[in-house]
Amino acid sequence: MTQTSHRQLVFTVKDKCRVCYTCVRECPVKAIKIINGQAEVINERCIGCGNCVKVCSQGAKYSLRSIDEVNELLRSEQKVAACIAPSFPAEFSEIPDFRFLVGMIRQLGFDYVTEVSFGADMVAREYESMIKNNQGGGQISSDCPAIVYFIRHYHPELVKHLSPIASPMLAMSRIMKKKYGDDLKVVFIGPCFAKKAESEEIDEALTFRELRDMFQEKEIQWESANPSEFDPPASWKGAIFPISRGLYFTANSAETIPEEQLVIAEGRVNFKEAVREFEEGFIRNKHLMLLCCEGCIMGPGMSPGGKRFARGAAVGEYVLRKLKTVDKQQWELDVTEFSGLDFSQEFTPEDRRFEIPSEDKILEALHAMGKFKPEDHLNCGTCGYDTCVEHAIAIVKGLAETEMCLPFTIEKLHDSINNLNVSNEKLARARQALKQSEKLAHMGQLSAGIAHELNNPLGVITMYSNILIDEAPENDPVRADLKLIAEQAERCKKIVSGLLNFARKNQVTLSVTDVVKFTRHSIDSIIKPENIEIIFEQKIANPQARLDIDQMMQVLTNLEKNAVEAMPGGGKLTIGVEGDEEEIRFIIADTGTGISKQHMEKIFTPFFTTKEMGKGTGLGLALIYGIVKMHKGKIHVDSNNDPAAGNTGTTFTITLPRT
Ligand code: ADP
Ligand code: MG
Repeated sequence: MTQTSHRQLVFTVKDKCRVCYTCVRECPVKAIKIINGQAEVINERCIGCGNCVKVCSQGAKYSLRSIDEVNELLRSEQKVAACIAPSFPAEFSEIPDFRFLVGMIRQLGFDYVTEVSFGADMVAREYESMIKNNQGGGQISSDCPAIVYFIRHYHPELVKHLSPIASPMLAMSRIMKKKYGDDLKVVFIGPCFAKKAESEEIDEALTFRELRDMFQEKEIQWESANPSEFDPPASWKGAIFPISRGLYFTANSAETIPEEQLVIAEGRVNFKEAVREFEEGFIRNKHLMLLCCEGCIMGPGMSPGGKRFARGAAVGEYVLRKLKTVDKQQWELDVTEFSGLDFSQEFTPEDRRFEIPSEDKILEALHAMGKFKPEDHLNCGTCGYDTCVEHAIAIVKGLAETEMCLPFTIEKLHDSINNLNVSNEKLARARQALKQSEKLAHMGQLSAGIAHELNNPLGVITMYSNILIDEAPENDPVRADLKLIAEQAERCKKIVSGLLNFARKNQVTLSVTDVVKFTRHSIDSIIKPENIEIIFEQKIANPQARLDIDQMMQVLTNLEKNAVEAMPGGGKLTIGVEGDEEEIRFIIADTGTGISKQHMEKIFTPFFTTKEMGKGTGLGLALIYGIVKMHKGKIHVDSNNDPAAGNTGTTFTITLPRT
C-alpha cells in the first residue's frame, strides 16, 4: 500500500502573524514562506509536524479540522469505530478513570471505542522480528507520519531504509476491519496532525483538542457519563508507546534487542541530526527509532500548556494499572488471531528538495543584506534560518525577505535615524537662515523706502548749502557753519547709499578681474596695527573672475576692518582666496573676540553695532550682505567667543558663483 500526497494540514491567519519568525525557526523543513512580513505555510514542503502551530504565541496558525466530516460519519447508517491513541491519559488527566472517557466517546455516537495500543503491540512484534532478522543493515522506523514525510520528501534516497511496517494506527484499523467488518468506518483520535494525512485507509483523524471541542458542543461531561470498557481487542504493553523510547519498550525488546543496535532520537533537532548521520554513513548499521515530537505525548494535537514529564507519568500510571488487570491469556489469543494480518506498508520517494541556487545568486542575496565578508555572517538565527547562507538561499527561492535579518534591519534603522537627524539639522539651519533673510528683506524694504525719501531732501540741502558757501564772502563766519551743514549732509548721503546697498536696490557692474591681485590689494587699503600678523593664502587655479570691483572691494575692506577691530590685543588675520570651476570663495579669519550666539542673529541688521558711539555705524555687514546678494553669492559665519570651547575668533566666508 502506498501513501498519497497529502492535503493542506496547517493554515495561517494572516492578520494575526506578527513577524517573529519563530515558526520559520521551528519548522524542521523550512516549509514557511515569509511574504510581505506574513508567514504562509507551503503545503508541498510541509511534513505536518505541527511545530509551527505549537510555537506560535499569536495563534496565527491552525490545523485542518475534521469535526464536520466526523459528525457526518456518525449521522450515517454505517458503523463507526473510534481508535484512541495511547497518549490519551496524558490529555485527559482530569478524568479519574478511563471508563468515563470511553463513555463520553460512545455518547458522541461511536459504535466502537478501542485503543490503538493493540495495534502498537502487533507492530512492535513486526519491528522486533525485523531487527532480529536484519542484522547489520540499518532501518528507520516508520511509525511517525511526519518522519515518513520527512524521509520521502527530503531524503528520498533513504526511503528504502524506512521500515516497511504499518503504523500502530493503520495496524489497528486493519485489525478493526477484520474484527468488525470491512465496511467499518475508522476514526483515529490522537495527539497528531500528520495522522490526518497519513493514509486513506483511515476515514478521518481527529486531534484530542477537536475531541474536546466535540464534547463541549454536545455538552458531554465525564461527571455525567456512563463508564464503559474499551471494545476488544485489548492491548498490553503497547499502551506505553507514546512516551519517549516507547516503541523500544513496547517491543519488549529491552530483553531481546541489545540497545546498542538502536538509535533513539526525538524532537525536531535530534531526529534531523540522526537522519543526517545515518545518511553520511556514521550509523548505517543502526536501527533508527525516530519521532518528530518528544514522544507522541508532546504532539501538536494535545491541549497546550501540558507538562512533558507529568504527561509521561500519567501514561505510565495508566499502563501500570492496565498491566495488573489485563487478561494476558485473551491478549495472547488476540495476538494469534490477528498475527496473520498484513501489517506491511510501502513508501515511495517524493523528492521535494529544491535546487540550490547558483553561487552568484546567493552572493547577490547576501550583498543585499550587507554581508560582504565572512565576518559579516553572524549566523545569529534571528531570521529563523541557522545560517546567513541558508537565509540567502531562501531569499533566492522566494521564501524569505532581507528584512528578516535583524542585524541588517537594525543597521538600516540606525542609518535612517542618522540621515533623519542630519536632514533635521539641515532643515533647522535652513529655517533659521530663511527667518533671517526674511527679516533682512523686510528691513531692506523699509530702509529702501526711507533712503529714497531722504535722498531728495538731502540733495536739496547739499546743493543749497554749497550754493550758499559759494555766495558767502571769503571771511564770513557763516561759511564754517555752512561747510558743516554740507559735510553732514554728505555723511547722511553715505549712510543712505549704504542703506540702498543693503536693500539691494543698486546694480552691480561686473568686470573681469584677477581675484588674487584684487584681494592682495584690499589688504593694502586698511590700517594694519603692529600687533596683528597678516597671512595671505591662495588656492585657486583660475584667478580670473567677474565681479563688481568697487563694491567687492568695500566687502573685503569692511570684513578686514571688522577683523582688525575684533583683535584689540593683537592676533592673526588670515585672508584667503579659493575657488574651482564653479565658484570663488573669499575667507577672512581672525583670532579675535568672536561673536556671541545672541549677536549672531543680528550682525547683518543695519545699525547693529557693539562698538562705542562714533566708532561703529552698524552698516558694514548690512552693506556686505546686500552686495553679496547682488552677486548671487552667500555669506557664512563661523565664530567662537567662548575661550572654554577653544580658540576664539571669527571666520567669514563669502562664496560667489563664477557665472
Ligand atoms: P560696525 O563694525 O560698525 O559695528 P558691522 O556691521 O561691520 O558694524 O558689524 C556689526 C557688529 O558685528 C560689530 O559691531 C561686531 O559686534 C560684530 N562683528 C562684525 N565682525 C566681527 C568680527 N570679525 N569679530 C567680532 N565681531 C564682529
Ligand atoms: Mg564694521
